[in-house]
Amino acid sequence: MSAATGDPLLERLHRVRAEIDAATVEAGRPPGDVALLLATKTVPAARIALALADGFTLIGENRVQELAEKYDALLEVPHATHFIGHLQANKINQVIGRIGCLESLDSVELARKLDSRLAARGSDLDVLVQVNVSGEESKSGVQPEHAADLLAAVTALPRLTARGFMTIGLNSPDRGAVRAGYRLLAGLRDMAVADGVPGADAALELSMGMSGDFADAIAEGATIVRIGSAVFGRRPAT
Ligand SMILES: *Cc1c(COP(=O)(O)O)cnc(C)c1O
Repeated sequence: MSAATGDPLLERLHRVRAEIDAATVEAGRPPGDVALLLATKTVPAARIALALADGFTLIGENRVQELAEKYDALLEVPHATHFIGHLQANKINQVIGRIGCLESLDSVELARKLDSRLAARGSDLDVLVQVNVSGEESKSGVQPEHAADLLAAVTALPRLTARGFMTIGLNSPDRGAVRAGYRLLAGLRDMAVADGVPGADAALELSMGMSGDFADAIAEGATIVRIGSAVFGRRPAT
């Protein structure tokens, strides 16, 4: 039992974890099969530390500055961090070394620059290929027809390992349309394996689904869901 039992944050966290497991079982998979990534943008380090102390140890940050600040604040607390925001090439150095996975790899150019910086440091990095399944111009990610090429390009780079695919779902109340996007991402992964795309056998993760739609994403095969507001409450408008 954690000292902070009773904090509403922890109650929400456990409720969301239970809902994830229920959706996973509903999809015919074992409970625990889907990882919960806490999307912690705008959340102060002290709040994040509460969740980490309770055993929820995977977080995702969107902004380089916030990543750096919280990295220092959470240095003593065991956890893993994924970067889930758009990464500009000139900020690579501030990110590698602080993360275990870049979920938002969206171009060959970025992959090449990452690889050469990693080589200079003597380190490696896991990545997910971010795909824009919705076609919305505001969303990052490669177009679906370019996902396999980016996977193959990443696989040819010695310092990067592609672990799968990530997408930000369509922003729409039409559940069927949102879900079709998730189905598309799962299909791209399966097709890459079937087509023998280099690296596809190791690239099986599907990071998809957020607070409002994670059950649908799990039904379509999500292995990582990224949850912010359902756990931490509504974010201040930015
Ligand atoms: C903020 C964010 C999330 C979580 O969104 P919620 O709706 O608050 O759960 C997931 N993925 C990415 C990339 C985000 O930026």
